[in-house]
Amino acid sequence: MCGIFGITGHGEASNLTYLGLHALQHRGQESAGIVSSDGHILRAHRQMGLVADIFTAPVIEGLPGDAAIGHVRYSTAGGSQLKNAQPLFVAYAGGQFSIAHNGNIVNAAELKASLESEGALFQSDADTEVVMHLLARSKQPTFEAKLVEALRKVEGAYSILLLTEDKLIAVRDPHGFRPLVLGKMKEGAYVVASETTALDLIEAEVVRELEPGELVVIENGVLRASMPFKPAPRLGRCIFEHVYFAKPDSVLFGTSVYEVRKRLGMQLAREQPAPDADLVIAVPDSGVPAAIGFSQTSGIPYDVGLIRSHYVGRTFIEPQQSIRHFGVKLKLSAVRSVLKGKRVVVVDDSIVRGTTSRKIVKMLKAAGAVSVHLRISSPPTQWPCYYGIDTPSRTELIAASHSTEEIAKYVTADSLGYLSLEGLGAAVEDPKRNTYCTACFSGQYLTEKLSRDSDVAKLSA
Ligand code: AMP
Repeated sequence: MCGIFGITGHGEASNLTYLGLHALQHRGQESAGIVSSDGHILRAHRQMGLVADIFTAPVIEGLPGDAAIGHVRYSTAGGSQLKNAQPLFVAYAGGQFSIAHNGNIVNAAELKASLESEGALFQSDADTEVVMHLLARSKQPTFEAKLVEALRKVEGAYSILLLTEDKLIAVRDPHGFRPLVLGKMKEGAYVVASETTALDLIEAEVVRELEPGELVVIENGVLRASMPFKPAPRLGRCIFEHVYFAKPDSVLFGTSVYEVRKRLGMQLAREQPAPDADLVIAVPDSGVPAAIGFSQTSGIPYDVGLIRSHYVGRTFIEPQQSIRHFGVKLKLSAVRSVLKGKRVVVVDDSIVRGTTSRKIVKMLKAAGAVSVHLRISSPPTQWPCYYGIDTPSRTELIAASHSTEEIAKYVTADSLGYLSLEGLGAAVEDPKRNTYCTACFSGQYLTEKLSRDSDVAKLSA
C-alpha cells in the first residue's frame, strides 16, 4: 500500500509534490521520498517518517526543477527500512531514471532470482527494483520501449510513475488493481496521482483515470497515451480501496468513496439489522460513512461514541504486533456520556486479526454500554492480498479459521454481522463482481500466477 504523485511542467514541482504526498499520507506512513528533475540532473530525497516532518523548506529547495515524482510507503514487499524507501533512483547506460510504484509484483521473486543468476546486484528488497533491472538490461532502442519490454515480464499490481531527465511516464497494470488518475493545473502542468484528493488539494482539474494497461508519456508539455500490453481477461480493481484504504473524499474507479462506504452501511443495515439498539456509532475514521448509512437505513440514531486521537498514525500500519497492541488504546477513547446504559451498534470497515475489535468492544462496555452489536461493512477477510494491500498471512486472519459466531465470542460482542459479498458488489455497482478484485474476501486471485492453489498455498505459508 503506497501513494504516488508526479507532476511535470511547473516551476514548483517538488513543492507541489510535497503537497500531493501530504494528501496521500493515509496510503503509507513509513517513509516518503521525492525525486526532481531540472531537465539535466535528477535529485532525490528519501527518509523514514511522515511527509510533513521530512520535507522542510531547505529539503524542498534542494530538489529543483520543473518535474518531480513522489512516494509514500507502507511496506508490502520488502522490510520497513530506508533502503526500500521510494522513489528508487538509478543511473544506467542510457541516463538517469527514477521510479515510484504502488502495488505488488507477484512474480518478483522468480524474476529476481533469474536476474541475480545473471549477475544483477540488488540494493533493496523492494519488488520494484526488479522492473529497474529489467528496464536497464533491455536492448530496445527507446526508454519507453525498454519499459514496456520490462513490464511485459511482470505479473501483478502496478501503478507506476517514472521520471527521466525529460519525461514523466505513468503506467497502470492491465487488471487496473491500483488507482491512478491524471490531472491538469490551470497553468498547463500535468499531474498524476493515486487519488483525486491529491489533485483537489493543489487545485488541479481531474482529467481522467488512466485506463488499465495504459501508458502515458508527458514530454515538453505534450501527452502521448498508448495501450501497449495484452489486456487482462477481466478487470481487477481493488475493492478494498473502497472499503477501507482510499480517502473518502476521493473519486475512485469512477465512484465517490464516501458514497460507496455509505451504501455499504445501508446494505449492512438491511442484511444484518440490530432492531433493539438505541444508537449507532462508528469506529473512526474509516467506519464513519458506513455507520451514517447504517443509521439512515435502520432509523437508529447516529452518535459519536468513540473519539480518535489525530496524533497517532494508523495503528495497523506499525509492522510490529507489540506496537499495534499499544496503539489501539492510544488511538481511540470512549465517550461515557453517550454510551452509558445504551445498546450500541458499532460499525467498522473490516476485521483482520480481531485484536482491534476486541479492544473496542471491551472499551465500549467499560464505558457503560449494556450491549455491543458489531457490524462490519465488508465480508470476512479470509485471504491475504498479494496485490499491494498489507494483509497478514492466512494463519493470522481470524476469519480464515473461525466462524462468525466464534469471532463474535472472541471479540466479546453480543452479536456480529458482516456484509455479504453480493451486498458489497451491489454497493460498488458491480453486482456480478467481475470488474473488481475481491480476492481478500473470495480467494479468487486474478493473475495467472495465483490462479493455481499451489501458488497461493506457498505464498500463504
Ligand atoms: P485487526 O485488529 O487486525 O482486526 O485490525 C482491524 C482494523 O484495521 C480495522 O479497524 C480496519 O479499519 C483496519 N484495517 C483493515 N485492513 C487494514 C490494512 N490492510 N492496513 C491497515 N489497517 C487495516
